[in-house]
Amino acid sequence: MLKVNEHYLKLQASYLFSDIAKRVATFQTNHPERDVIKLGIGDVTNPLPEACINAMHAAVDEMATTAGFRGYGPEQGYDFLRDAIAKNDFQARGAEVQSDEIFVSDGAKCDTGNIQELFATDARIALPDPVYPVYLDTNVMAGRTGTFKDGRFEGIVYLDSTKANNYVPDLPTEPVDLIYLCFPNNPTGSTITKEQLKVWVDYAKDNKALILFDAAYEAFIRDPQLPHSIYEIEGAREVAIEFRSYSKSAGFTGTRCAYTVVPKECIAYDSQGGKQALHPLWNRRHCTKFNGVSYPVQRAAEAVYSPEGMAQCQTLIDVYLANAKIIGKAMGELGYSYVGGDNAPYIWIWGNRDSWEFFDLLLNEAGVVCTPGAGFGKCGQGYIRLSAFNSEANVVEAMERIRLALG
Ligand code: PLP
Repeated sequence: MLKVNEHYLKLQASYLFSDIAKRVATFQTNHPERDVIKLGIGDVTNPLPEACINAMHAAVDEMATTAGFRGYGPEQGYDFLRDAIAKNDFQARGAEVQSDEIFVSDGAKCDTGNIQELFATDARIALPDPVYPVYLDTNVMAGRTGTFKDGRFEGIVYLDSTKANNYVPDLPTEPVDLIYLCFPNNPTGSTITKEQLKVWVDYAKDNKALILFDAAYEAFIRDPQLPHSIYEIEGAREVAIEFRSYSKSAGFTGTRCAYTVVPKECIAYDSQGGKQALHPLWNRRHCTKFNGVSYPVQRAAEAVYSPEGMAQCQTLIDVYLANAKIIGKAMGELGYSYVGGDNAPYIWIWGNRDSWEFFDLLLNEAGVVCTPGAGFGKCGQGYIRLSAFNSEANVVEAMERIRLALG
């Protein structure tokens, strides 16, 4: 008799986006005359930068010739892309990362979900609350938690991110081995300073722990003081793995390209307390279970680093950041306190009422879709997340409607 992995049965059904979709569908059935503006899901809306499109077209043409055709590529990514990443994303910022420490993949979702395979089942996990749900669910699947009780899984150390700590969690008060951090943050849009990040790096060193640093929204940072990479912090190479993605920085959510950095010094321990380098383990995992991102997509990602590509990506992000400003300004004028939007595409708004109640209010009275904060964890209750991923015209219209509904 084949038994299932019963840890899967502990997972909480992902009600969040299906619940949102259901409520929106009901609203649209009841009000066919009203158009709904979606500021809920964090998916980009603008087309790919021209430099990426041109590079992708050229690569497809190469594949159409005998001389230019490419079959399986290196699982870790082509050198042209890994070199461009190391140079532009890290070395240019004084962060010491080499090309062969970069593993190109088809998404930060897969990478942040798969990385936990490298660690023992009894690793103690620390997770921010609210959180990008992938970190939690993949650890539930792996059997690192007990059951779900009162809105939380037993066995997880939750790191509350609240107004009291300006949405940057405090160090855990009980021992942990693996720490997930995400800055700029989804869902709160909050950021972390170099000094604050140094505290986490030092903690990881002192406690033989490892930080999984998700920098999927790094490209939205405009404050020159803020770190773009954890490797800008001294000592991080031994205790941190970093995840990046072209999804939001270059509009690749449907194109799929991302990467993970595993420095050669990065270690965990075996049961005898011996040091084990993580780079060869992740390399083994990546090569065994993944066969590389397609050549045209890697050429498109490489084009992000061309002078035109950089300028076009900057413009793309500036459009979303300008939307975020419009959202923040409007909510502020309505008397709501919020965080995010300056260096992130998300605005995290304290609604002072149940998250779903606020969601229904915005949908029914303004025809605007948000994401209820409670869907990201217990600490998200009372909040909503508005996303800046939409056209400026839609954002202006949405905020005008919200002004009329709440004002
Ligand atoms: N990490 C965070 C924090 C995200 O919000 C997202 C997507 O929304 C991802 C990773 C996934 O990125 P990708 O599209 O590269 O899988």
